[in-house]
Amino acid sequence: MQAVDLPPPLRQFAGPGLAFIPANSGGTLGGMGEVAALPTIFFVVSALVFGLVVGSFLNVVIHRLPRGESLVRPRSRCPHCSQAVSILDNIPVVSYLRLGGRCRHCRTRISLRYPAIEILTGLLWAGLVFRFGVHPMTFVWMLFSAALVAAAVIDFDHRIIPDEISIGGLVVAVMLVPVAHALDGSPFTAAFMRSLIGALVGGGLLWSVAFVHARVCAALGRHFDHWPGEGESFPTVGQLDYWTWFPGLGLGDVKLLAMIGAVQGALGALATLVLASVAGLALGIAWAMTTRRWGVPFGFAPAIAAGALLVVFLPGAL
Ligand SMILES: [Zn+2]
Repeated sequence: MQAVDLPPPLRQFAGPGLAFIPANSGGTLGGMGEVAALPTIFFVVSALVFGLVVGSFLNVVIHRLPRGESLVRPRSRCPHCSQAVSILDNIPVVSYLRLGGRCRHCRTRISLRYPAIEILTGLLWAGLVFRFGVHPMTFVWMLFSAALVAAAVIDFDHRIIPDEISIGGLVVAVMLVPVAHALDGSPFTAAFMRSLIGALVGGGLLWSVAFVHARVCAALGRHFDHWPGEGESFPTVGQLDYWTWFPGLGLGDVKLLAMIGAVQGALGALATLVLASVAGLALGIAWAMTTRRWGVPFGFAPAIAAGALLVVFLPGAL
């Protein structure tokens, strides 16, 4: 079924298109006939709007999750004057533009980052629906991309990746990915095993890199800012730190790549790691050029997130 008649060059990017609707149903699936008849542009624009709203929620997650605050209460407040932001002033992007990027009450500038994260999430969601069509797995990709945006920005700000995102995402992925594949007609068990193996390979891969790097650094007597701590010696085999504490790469990165492997499978995680190294280099150079400071360490999660999203969007990478 071809609910939407895209020109041939676009058709190939639209992937399976609205593949959730069986090919022989003539574009109808019980009560979904009307839905299926809607043009792709409707779903892409809807995904954009939902993505903007979710991006607005991600701003809350990014601010509050690392501080251990509730994600639902209290309502958003201006960080400067503490006035609660009314619902009308909290419409993604629109409110920012209407208020001229300033707080309604104290006129303090609101960071451009808020609408930027909303727009990024909106574009990612629209892009996913355009690329994969309306599909159970597209829904998983949408959640996945939102988790990656939050992890990347939190790591950039605080040099940590909350377990709620990495481990929480891993658990959700291992349950949700096989269900999405099963709804799509693939065997559940195979998808479940693929998810588990992906998580093990993804996490194991990055853990091995970090572990070997740490042992080489220790052998060379190389000290980092916080590794080992001041006046401390290198951890030994009998200590937990020997296995879990590394310079440069954190255990948070390892857990994040395990989550990515659970969604993308083992090969996807491997591709993510390769692309993340390239993205990390590019981001590092761009960062050094804008700030004119070299050698400032920052979290690896933005690069991992960029690599994982490239794997999702690049044709043939999955
Ligand atoms: Zn204010």
